[in-house]
Amino acid sequence: METSVEKNEKQGIIYRTVCQNPGCGHAFDLRITPKNAGLLGGTMPCPRCHRRGGMIKPIGKIRDKTFAAKLVFRAMGVNYNGGAGADEGDLVSEIGASSY
Ligand SMILES: [Zn+2]
Repeated sequence: METSVEKNEKQGIIYRTVCQNPGCGHAFDLRITPKNAGLLGGTMPCPRCHRRGGMIKPIGKIRDKTFAAKLVFRAMGVNYNGGAGADEGDLVSEIGASSY
């Protein structure tokens, strides 16, 4: 029986995050566990400059369980319209009743 997987899940993964707020650039390790995984989809303040609204953007894997990430801030007045949005291509065709 292997229980090591369970242990790893409790420890979570580390996002080595760098604040992108101009003049800050604070780097910190953010531990993501199943309990706070919501941070990845939401926002958090920088622990140093306390600017709110920072979003975690993973930029690459460093090693196992450790990722590089940026804490990015949405500029005021700029409308983010791009990015990998949710794929809502769930088009179920119900027009299958052919009357041939
Ligand atoms: Zn900062």
